[in-house]
Amino acid sequence: MTTWALDLDGVIWTGPKEIPGSAEAVGRLLEAGHEVVFVTNNAAPTIAQQEEKLGSFGIDAIGRVATSAMGGASLVAAGDVVLCMGGPGISEAVENRGATAVKEFRRGDQIPDAVLVGLDPKLSYDRLRGAVQAVLEGARFLATNDDPTFPTDDGLYPGAGAIVGAIAAATGQTPIVGGKPHQPQADLVRLKYGADGVMVGDRPETDGLFARSLGYRFLLVLTGVTKEQDLPTDPIADEVAPDLATLVERALRT
Ligand SMILES: [Mg+2]
Repeated sequence: MTTWALDLDGVIWTGPKEIPGSAEAVGRLLEAGHEVVFVTNNAAPTIAQQEEKLGSFGIDAIGRVATSAMGGASLVAAGDVVLCMGGPGISEAVENRGATAVKEFRRGDQIPDAVLVGLDPKLSYDRLRGAVQAVLEGARFLATNDDPTFPTDDGLYPGAGAIVGAIAAATGQTPIVGGKPHQPQADLVRLKYGADGVMVGDRPETDGLFARSLGYRFLLVLTGVTKEQDLPTDPIADEVAPDLATLVERALRT
């Protein structure tokens, strides 16, 4: 039995569309007795929303989603007060740690133990001010992930890393980052799914480095941002395939 850690965007789907054969490939892995975990840096949706989207493609993902919100929240302790900057997935992960998620901070309020920053679809100057002031007053500066951009049907959008960068510029501090490719996310996955596994992804700089943090083999698919002409990548992949279905076919044949 091997753990298959799978990236979502560029491996399972592109935006709203399934990558052909990916759902069936996941089903084959599970039938063959392998462990499957979906590891995504998308921290905004709740776990239930992620499981539901996977379920809409026919993938049984209940209990199999690990987000960068969880990686970031692994850096706070039960009982901490955490200023959360991001979507509902971040406050959910913080509450699941037994910490208290707060949404706002003004000088004179209780200083939170930490500020956890992710992609904030409701980013405003006031939210940025709250996060900056909390860090300046002594809250620990944490981030779900530091991806500068993410792909959409409408081109690249600014990612969590762009927002983290604004807070870093204003405070002069560097955050501790939870999600791929950083160690907190790898520790979470290894603790739950063991030391024997593969990481399938489309981005060498996140998924490939994350495979190293995990101590898993890095399997690169060409259904996302990396194309044939980008090979070989840095870090180099242990295996390259056109898509997830091909990787699974190869693995189950041997
Ligand atoms: Mg991806």
